[in-house]
Amino acid sequence: MSVPAARVKVTGSSKASGDIPLTEAEVVVSGGRGLKGPEHWGMLEDLAKALGAATACSRPVADAHWRPHHEHVGQTGFAIAPNLYIAIGISGAIQHLAGVNRSKVIVVINKDPEAPFFKAADYGIVGDAFEVVPKLTAEINKLKGK
Ligand SMILES: Cc1cc2nc3c(=O)[nH]c(=O)nc-3n(C[C@H](O)[C@H](O)[C@H](O)COP(=O)(O)OP(=O)(O)OC[C@H]3O[C@@H](n4cnc5c(N)ncnc54)[C@H](O)[C@@H]3O)c2cc1C
Repeated sequence: MSVPAARVKVTGSSKASGDIPLTEAEVVVSGGRGLKGPEHWGMLEDLAKALGAATACSRPVADAHWRPHHEHVGQTGFAIAPNLYIAIGISGAIQHLAGVNRSKVIVVINKDPEAPFFKAADYGIVGDAFEVVPKLTAEINKLKGK
């Protein structure tokens, strides 16, 4: 059934934040409550940009409106299977893992060496995200000759 043209008016369009749709991304950079607030997402976005990655988040982050709900991964969010999933300041609760455990390679950055996510990680960095992430981004950009 076609809709009469006069009854359809496009008033704007919206796009998921970031350039790459989360469910199609080969690389995903994801943040949790360890990032402390939405004002700190710039460093995560810088890393995602350096890697050509999509951004994602844990559920409490979306519930707190730090990030939009379409970025929430896990049991009650999107299930994704990228080649590389980088989890920053995310504890690794079972409900979160349910949405990301099909990722080929998981890298975890967490300041708590006992964080459960390390058990599911291929590579782990124990450290403060606010120190580690900007350094990682700078090194990646250096390798890219930027
Ligand atoms: C029915 C149900 C469904 C759920 N569905 C989902 C879901 O789909 N997705 C989901 O994500 N959750 C889901 N949850 C919630 C889940 O149980 C966890 O509460 C949630 O995943 C925790 O989010 P988080 O890791 O961001 O926060 P937290 O558990 O608070 O972890 C924050 C982490 O950040 C680390 N950290 C703190 N500061 C720093 C720093 N400066 N640098 C580095 N690391 C730091 C801490 O060591 C900690 O490990 C669900 C829960 C229930 C009951």
